[in-house]
Amino acid sequence: MADELFVELTAPNGNKYKQPRGLFINNEFVKSKSGETITSINPSDEKEIISVYAAGPEDVDLAVDAARKAFKNPEWRDIDTTARGELMYKFAQLIEEHRETLAAIETWDNGKPYSVSLNEDLAEVIGTIKYYAGYSNKIHGQVIDTSPAKLAYTIREPLGVCGQIIPWNFPLAMAAWKLGPAICTGNTVVLKAAEQTPLSILYLATLVKEAGFPPGVINILNGEGRKAGAALAQHLGVDKIAFTGSTATGKEIMKMAAVNMKNITLETGGKSPLLVFDDADLDQAVKWAHIGIMYNQGQVCTATSRILVQDGIYDKFVEGFKEYVSTASVVGDPFKDDTFQGPQVTKQQYERVLSYIESGKSEGAKLVAGGEAYKNVGGKGFFISPTIFTGVKDDMKIYREEVFGPFVVISSFKTEEEAIERANDTSYGLGAAVFTQDITKGHRLARLIEAGMVWINSSNDSDIRIPFGGVKQSGIGRELGEAGLAAYTNQKAIHVNLGNKL
Ligand code: ADP
Repeated sequence: MADELFVELTAPNGNKYKQPRGLFINNEFVKSKSGETITSINPSDEKEIISVYAAGPEDVDLAVDAARKAFKNPEWRDIDTTARGELMYKFAQLIEEHRETLAAIETWDNGKPYSVSLNEDLAEVIGTIKYYAGYSNKIHGQVIDTSPAKLAYTIREPLGVCGQIIPWNFPLAMAAWKLGPAICTGNTVVLKAAEQTPLSILYLATLVKEAGFPPGVINILNGEGRKAGAALAQHLGVDKIAFTGSTATGKEIMKMAAVNMKNITLETGGKSPLLVFDDADLDQAVKWAHIGIMYNQGQVCTATSRILVQDGIYDKFVEGFKEYVSTASVVGDPFKDDTFQGPQVTKQQYERVLSYIESGKSEGAKLVAGGEAYKNVGGKGFFISPTIFTGVKDDMKIYREEVFGPFVVISSFKTEEEAIERANDTSYGLGAAVFTQDITKGHRLARLIEAGMVWINSSNDSDIRIPFGGVKQSGIGRELGEAGLAAYTNQKAIHVNLGNKL
């Protein structure tokens, strides 16, 4: 089995499928040149699932060459834009047909509840590919009127070969966010999945070929960030890098991308505030605040992980939130129907969250819920009890740093001015939520908060039609919506002289 390119597997829910193990280059699965592999671990029971081939720089070279050839291949370069959209619709249809298998793999490898993989992540994947399929034949330039002596117009060209580096928290959905706009605008792609979750993307690759994309248009690699990811970010044959992950890695990638001045899109970390004013609908604030931080095991870059509550309702909010978390955040086997929270993705992430729990305790914050590993799921796995700290000071590590787990800090404020100042007192600027029944105050705050996205009376209800991205150290550029197209096209200006004689 060790060197086979496909292996029959049975997921814990009984779903039998053929798992590819290779690197997907030129529409074929191949072994890595070095023979190196990475092993995927089931975070629910800590057992090995399977190992897959891991790309090194020489494999990245092959994938980039394939993508470059595909970019120049008239079959792709000159394709009718409606036909390009049809390929994407076909791809979306195949994903729909294989939805249950993809969801089972996602849950097995990542630990997120199966109902979430099936109904939310896969819906997002299919929705995103279809949304951008629709844009394929609507990528228009402009005619710019200057004088009768000149015809000037623009065309929106693809950038070329796009390197895309994705994270492990929403493996398939993050792939779709990146593939959708890149492909509908006529680029070619080398996508690298996160080493923690290498499996679902390989199954998706089988559908790329079946959908009929020409060889080399979409290449998919697994591999370690510091090897395959770095090789892609530095590659002279790559025109663009799109990255989602931590702020520290984003900065590294930005430096590496400078080698040939690649176009970049970065979506990085956050410590997003959620503000609850005295005049808020308390019940709704509690429920959205729960989704805002506890969804996806707290592994969401836009998680509203800092809750700031006005002092008039602070005690009531804390009481209500604690109560709601204790009933809604059902921790358990991700393949069970009533599970809200599965394990953290890896031992490393699990230990990271536990270390922040220790930090909170040692810095003198008050632990009001959780604060420990959760061992009632067969005694194994990277499960953590949903954790709430109050009495948090603004200089504590747990208030300032991104934890990326089911872990929230709650603090109180007195005035609107204080709320804004403290919301903005962070190096991040990804999301923010405001709860108030005063619509004027809601809009006023939305403008003053330094963030790429503000939710008034909700949290994290993002939508593929709406731009997503951050300011400050939360990133550069936007994904999703029409704005996401700008990250994958150049505007070329063409000047036609209609009579300007020298
Ligand atoms: P995390 O710390 O949450 O694992 P990272 O930002 O390190 O997140 O990883 C996100 C993605 O970036 C993954 O696909 C990973 O392999 C990749 N990556 C990590 N380090 C590098 C690097 N030095 N160069 C390029 N890609 C990297």
